Amino acid sequence: MNTVQPGGEVRIVLVGTQHPGNIGSAARAIKTMGLERLVLVAPERYPHADASAMAAGADDVLADAAIVGSLAEAVADCALVIGCTARSRRIQLEELSPRAGAARLLDAVGPGAPVALVFGRERTGLDNDELQLCHAAVHIPANPGYSSLNLAAAVQVLAYELRVALLERAALPTGGGDGHREPLASHAQLEGFFAQLGDTLDDIDFHKGRAPESALRKLRRIFLRCGLDEREVRLLRGVLADAQRMARLAGASGGERR
Ligand code: SAH
Repeated sequence: MNTVQPGGEVRIVLVGTQHPGNIGSAARAIKTMGLERLVLVAPERYPHADASAMAAGADDVLADAAIVGSLAEAVADCALVIGCTARSRRIQLEELSPRAGAARLLDAVGPGAPVALVFGRERTGLDNDELQLCHAAVHIPANPGYSSLNLAAAVQVLAYELRVALLERAALPTGGGDGHREPLASHAQLEGFFAQLGDTLDDIDFHKGRAPESALRKLRRIFLRCGLDEREVRLLRGVLADAQRMARLAGASGGERR
């Protein structure tokens, strides 16, 4: 009835959940906030009676939940992926408040452009490889001495922020604005760009013997901050292709001179 439309494209992803009750509680948390898409990445014990019991009336969300083997699979088609972390650690990702994270997700979501909000395991959270797949991180500014919320409670906080942001947007007059927007680049398109960027840096001998990881991480961070659309990624890849071509030519003529 008052389902606020874009909610359907916001995917709540739970990675490696250990307690099935938390899956049920998370389903309930998101349904109360008008969201519906739950994706479970390799849950430890699921399906499970505890999940159904904690879901209460949200069994439909559980029944529709997708189960996949990896986070990469869960977010491959997403325009934006935000990871939730209990610790405000020195991660190489832009860190957002729950409110700013919700706004960023709603800016990116669109028809055929789902977005994902990712939650980690109860014991260990998200590992570094999983955080690498995220474009930004959200940290709930909890008690610094005791900052780790129960998984489903963290889902509830973020789902609430999404709800408030959706309601605010629904109340705004429509029309005007920037009209048709090019769809944001998908996760897979961005990863393709980053792979080519890595190759290009090698081709132009950017690293000069230094380990490439640190520069690549910083560059990823810059580009992920911009919310690149598909056309922009094509343009950047065109620039890289030309740089790679020039590097090949320079290599060939350098070889001749020697
Ligand atoms: N011991 C783990 C905590 C995991 S809590 C750790 O230190 O990482 C399970 C999940 O709930 C986390 O991976 C995160 O996605 C979410 N979560 C818990 N507290 C949070 C907080 N303060 N801010 C953002 N997400 C939080």
